[in-house]
Amino acid sequence: MNNSKINRIESARLIGQRPRKAGCNSRLGEHGIQVSPTIVRVTTDDGATGFGWSRITKDQAETLVGFQLDEVFNLESGVAEEFRVLEYPIWDVAGKLAQKPVYALIGGQPDADGVFRARCYDTSLYIDDLHVEDDDAAAAFIASEALEGVGRGHTAFKIKVGRGAMHMPLEQGTRRDILVILAVREAVGPDATILLDANNGYNLNLTKQVLGETANASIYWMEEAFHEDARFYANLKEWLDSEGLETRIADGEGGASPHLLDWAQQGLIDIVQYDIFHPGFTRWLELGIQLDEWNVGTAPHHYGGLYGNYASSHLSAGMQGFEFVEWDEASTPGLDASGYSITNGYVNVPKLSGFGLKLEEDIYAQAVEENGFVVRKA
Ligand SMILES: [Mg+2]
Repeated sequence: MNNSKINRIESARLIGQRPRKAGCNSRLGEHGIQVSPTIVRVTTDDGATGFGWSRITKDQAETLVGFQLDEVFNLESGVAEEFRVLEYPIWDVAGKLAQKPVYALIGGQPDADGVFRARCYDTSLYIDDLHVEDDDAAAAFIASEALEGVGRGHTAFKIKVGRGAMHMPLEQGTRRDILVILAVREAVGPDATILLDANNGYNLNLTKQVLGETANASIYWMEEAFHEDARFYANLKEWLDSEGLETRIADGEGGASPHLLDWAQQGLIDIVQYDIFHPGFTRWLELGIQLDEWNVGTAPHHYGGLYGNYASSHLSAGMQGFEFVEWDEASTPGLDASGYSITNGYVNVPKLSGFGLKLEEDIYAQAVEENGFVVRKA
């Protein structure tokens, strides 16, 4: 990085759409069709720019203009702690100045054909079937959604479960979860990867019941079965072993236990899922190296933020144990992501500098005016 100074910070919320509405998870209502990432652009006094997701406020931005890039970032340690509210725009600037994609800055190697790829899963299989009365028909409905994902190039699918936690009577909801899992497996075939996410809507016994009754569906991971608990997880691990099931335990999004990393180190949690925005990219790079040492997988949560699709793809270069990008398909006018594509279960990451995205100037400028702000160095 160089000693040029950040002299302008702009922020705007863009509005995009998913291909179809996302329904409930086990504990929340409909997630809807809209995504609305806030995209912030920084510009330096010698004209370098970069942009990315950020929640920076106007007041915060006023305290950060004027700093030199080399105070804010270096390649060894990433974005300095006090500037991490701007870390995606800064990593993007760093990539653009180096004329390299962010994955290359952190050591990512393209495949033999020159394309850098990251494994991903379709995260769109929400509890979308509550309007369907018949359980088999509901299962067929979710299976048809999984086939839409197959059509978009996916080979891994995460199914929201825990219908009996709140939305349906417990027994019927659990029965429907099981039918949905079996129907999705049937639809996507034996080679696809299936993940489950209960958003803490199960307990230990329900987890065993569902994993037991879907043993033939080879569930790759069980995410947030219940709120993390070392005793329950130790019991579940023992049970999985005794049943000969290889299902991994994934956890860590949202209000995770402060003991989560200790439990990961102890082998009670196989895959850590802190969010891609909090703690963020720079912290994830440090954490991923630690998780590699413990032989624990990395799979950042990011649902709803859109930009995490791209950020997580680049982050995958930073650790050996990266599992999957959580892919929440949507398109957002103003943010040109056309360099990205999905084939055979992998994100093909564009070879463009920074995060490989482009801003559509007219739309971005209009959004800055309507809902955002600009801060310039006085
Ligand atoms: Mg989740």
